Amino acid sequence: MKILVINCGSSSLKYQLIDMKDEKVLAKGLVERIGIEGSILTHKVNGEKYITKQPMEDHRVAIKLVLNALVDKDYGVIKDMSEISAVGHRVVHGGEKYGNSVLIDGNVMKAIEDCAKLAPLHNPPNLIGINACKALMKDTPMVAVFDTAFHQTIPDYAYTYAVPYELYEKYGVRKYGFHGTSHRFVSIEAAKMMGKDIKDLKIITCHLGNGASVCAIDGGKSVDTSMGFTPLAGLCMGTRCGDIDPAVVPFLVKTAGMSIDEVDTMMNKKSGVFGVSGVSSDFRDVEAEAAKGNKRARLALDLYAYKVRTVIGSYIAALNGADCIVFTAGLGENSGSSRKEICSGLSNLGIVLDEERNKAAGVATEISSDNSKVKVFVIPTNEELMIARDTKEIVG
Ligand code: AMP
Repeated sequence: MKILVINCGSSSLKYQLIDMKDEKVLAKGLVERIGIEGSILTHKVNGEKYITKQPMEDHRVAIKLVLNALVDKDYGVIKDMSEISAVGHRVVHGGEKYGNSVLIDGNVMKAIEDCAKLAPLHNPPNLIGINACKALMKDTPMVAVFDTAFHQTIPDYAYTYAVPYELYEKYGVRKYGFHGTSHRFVSIEAAKMMGKDIKDLKIITCHLGNGASVCAIDGGKSVDTSMGFTPLAGLCMGTRCGDIDPAVVPFLVKTAGMSIDEVDTMMNKKSGVFGVSGVSSDFRDVEAEAAKGNKRARLALDLYAYKVRTVIGSYIAALNGADCIVFTAGLGENSGSSRKEICSGLSNLGIVLDEERNKAAGVATEISSDNSKVKVFVIPTNEELMIARDTKEIVG
C-alpha cells in the first residue's frame, strides 16, 4: 500500500509518498510560493533533487504538479496515480470533536471549517489542500490527522483555564495542545526502545524545534502539554514568548500605546530566543554568539533551558514520576549542549546524562548514563510516517 502524505500551508505544501510495505519514503518534496511569483517545486528521490519552476496560481495546480512528478517517466516513482491507495492530510486543529484521526467526509470537512476560528492561519490552508486533492483524486480515500487529537485525553482540571466558565462554553477557550502527532510518534518509539508496553510507561516528550512543547504521557495517553489555546503558550520558542503574565498585554496596550495586533505580532514573531538575544531565532546562531561572550545570547539560552527544565519537573509531578524523557525536533535531536543544560541539576529526580552518549545528533539513541533512574532518549520525530500509519490503519 502506497500512501501520500500532504502537509499544506498557506503558500507551501510538503509531501511524502511512503510505501507501507517497509515504510520506505519513495519520494518527497516541497512546493513553495504557491499563488505568488516564483513558485517552485523541489522533488526528491533517493537524495536526487528535481526542481520545477513555473507559475502555480493555487494549491490545485501545485498538487497536480506533485502528482505529475510522482508519475514522471524519468524521475517518478509510480507508474500510475491509481497506485496511491490513500492520502493522509495533516490538519492542525480538530477542536474537541476529534481525539483520533478520521476518514474525511462532508461532516469532517465541515468540522475542520468550524475549527478555523481556533486556527485561522492553519485550518483554511489544510482545507484547501484536501479540496485540491479531492478534485484530482476523486476515488482515493483521504484521512485527516489532527495535531490536537492526541491531547484530547488531557483531564478537565488540566485543560480548563481559570477564567469564567462561560468563555469555555461559548468560545471554546481552553488548552488544546499541539505537536500531538510528534509527541505520539516519539512516545511509541520510546516504548519500543525500552522494550516495554507503552501502557506501563510514564513518558515526558520534549519537542524542541522552532515551535516547542513538552508533553506528559501516561500509559500512551497525553495528560498534559505545554502549548495551550494556541501554539503561543508554554515554552520560550524561536520567536514566540511562551508563558508570560497575561497582564503584560493590557499593560503594553495602555502604557506603550501598542495595538492588540502589534502585541500579538510581537509575542509571536519578535519574542522568544530571538527577542531576548537580539541575534536570531536559530539556536545555532544564538549558541555561536553565546560562545563568543554575548551576554544576551547566553541569557536567552539559559532562560530557554530553565523553562524546559521546570516544565519537565512539573510533569514529573503530574505523572507522579517518569520512566523516560525524550528529546526530539531540530534542537532536541541535534543540540547536546542544550540537552545538557536542560537536564542539569535534575539528578535528584533521577535524571543523569552520559556526556559521551549525549553527543548524539539526529539518531535514535539513549543518552542517559547507566545509573540514571529515568532513561533519556534522542528520537528523531517523523510526523509524516505517523500520518501514513494512521491513514493505513483507517483505510486498510
Ligand atoms: P524544527 O522546527 O524541528 O525544524 O527545528 C528547527 C530549529 O532547530 C532551528 O531553528 C534551530 O534553531 C534548531 N536546530 C537545528 N539543528 C541544530 C543544531 N545542530 N544545533 C542547535 N540547534 C539546531
